[in-house]
Amino acid sequence: MSAFQPDSFIVSDVVPSPNFDERKSAPDIILLHYTGMQTGEAALARLIASESKVSSHYIVFEDGRIAQCVPEALRAWHAGVSSWGGDTDINSRSIGIEVVNPGHEFGYSDFPLRQTAAVIALCKSIITRRGPISPDRVLAHSDVAPSRKQDPGEKFPWELLSESGIGHWVRAAPLNLDGLKLQPGDRGEAVSRLQRMLRGYGYGIEETGHFDEATRDVVTAFQRHFRQARIDGIADPSTLLTLRALVETRPKPQS
Ligand SMILES: [Zn+2]
Repeated sequence: MSAFQPDSFIVSDVVPSPNFDERKSAPDIILLHYTGMQTGEAALARLIASESKVSSHYIVFEDGRIAQCVPEALRAWHAGVSSWGGDTDINSRSIGIEVVNPGHEFGYSDFPLRQTAAVIALCKSIITRRGPISPDRVLAHSDVAPSRKQDPGEKFPWELLSESGIGHWVRAAPLNLDGLKLQPGDRGEAVSRLQRMLRGYGYGIEETGHFDEATRDVVTAFQRHFRQARIDGIADPSTLLTLRALVETRPKPQS
């Protein structure tokens, strides 16, 4: 693809990627990733290499610089096999933002404030220009692909985003509370209830009444986003209370 006009003037560079096709629906999700490579330049090179078959609309560097690789009107290839709220073509429904960070494989680091400020400004720009994207549809890659993906991970500053009006988030309940705890191998109605709540919020999980591997993966993804102090895939009282608070404060669907 040849150079195109950026969708926003906070974009500093347009670096076109050939990896895109047509959307099948209008985007109503913002999907956040980390790049998970040693450098941002290597990550950008991969997003624009035709043989990689991956791309994203934006990449945000550690210093806050933003490059755009695919126009928002087109379908970038960043989500892979994924699902949210029953939809499985998340690439068609989303705008993808890669946030430069080495990730768990190469020395997962804190996200610098300059970078987070740029991510917030970019999300605001998207939401202002495109019309409302419901806060509970600003998601992590791990939310839509919990068994495959960890990004952007438990260091991602969802709280700061939420303080700036981006995303749906609640303060996590404290660790080490007494009460019901559900873990791998457990069976029964309490597990079904947990699965129903996660599924109702959007996670791609079946209600089996069995705390299986898929359930552990979804609980882990939930913790990376909403209960970042301990990531262990166990639905302890803190995790369950946080989930309940999240469901209860969910924004009403806009008509
Ligand atoms: Zn990702």
